[in-house]
Amino acid sequence: MTRRPRGVTLKSPDQVARMRDAGLVVARTLDRLVAAVRPGISTGELDAIAEESIRAHDAVPSFLGYHGFPASICASVGPEVVHGIPSRDRVLADGELVSIDCGAILGGWHGDAAVTVAVGDCDQELLNLTKVTEEALWAGIAAAVDGGRLSDIGAAVEAVVRPHGYGLLDGYTGHGIGTSMHEPPHVPNTAPGGPGRGMELEAGLVLAIEPMVTLGDAEVTELDDGWTVVTLDGRQAAHWEHTVAITPDGPWVLTALDGGRA
Ligand code: MG
Ligand code: MG
Repeated sequence: MTRRPRGVTLKSPDQVARMRDAGLVVARTLDRLVAAVRPGISTGELDAIAEESIRAHDAVPSFLGYHGFPASICASVGPEVVHGIPSRDRVLADGELVSIDCGAILGGWHGDAAVTVAVGDCDQELLNLTKVTEEALWAGIAAAVDGGRLSDIGAAVEAVVRPHGYGLLDGYTGHGIGTSMHEPPHVPNTAPGGPGRGMELEAGLVLAIEPMVTLGDAEVTELDDGWTVVTLDGRQAAHWEHTVAITPDGPWVLTALDGGRA
């Protein structure tokens, strides 16, 4: 048995239930955003919908003001992988992929999730990219079980992504989450040493699992805005994320409306 690393906290069932309430705010907000995505809407308009939705649930947008981030969602389009800044000037066009990352705080507890959405009619190549990324997320979630080890998650993500030849970011990871959006541990999407390594997973751990996958190379760079992460080769990317509690009965997907049962 490995020691629990410094800063990693376990949540009580009552605390997990409160995180579920925060997760549902994120889930319902993302639901509204997915329904709103269409050619001609700007990412700034999506951000306004998100902020209105989060506040209507008496929650607070956790991204707004986070290290100076200016919006309630990250909206990353095309070669932008994560952390894109929404703008009224960035109007979505038919055939693009947009990833929307959303976080909310309710009663002091955080939820964090992301989806990638096709704008209008997308090429099959892009639809496959986002489908595989979502499948990789769910494979990672299925590996988040009491008695497992941290690298089981990255190994499960890799096992889905690698056969397709896609790029898989390893410099950006998932994370623990609780009364802060980002808590230890880092949750890598890769497992260089294979599964069965790293911290032991136990009931009460709550993790944000978030594979970031690219059509081409996994090399990325950050734009001068200090936030937006883009692929170096300019090819498209997808990003899916859920906040997941490890329970004695298996993973509980706090940011899925059905808790992940489907
Ligand atoms: Mg997120
Ligand atoms: Mg996250």
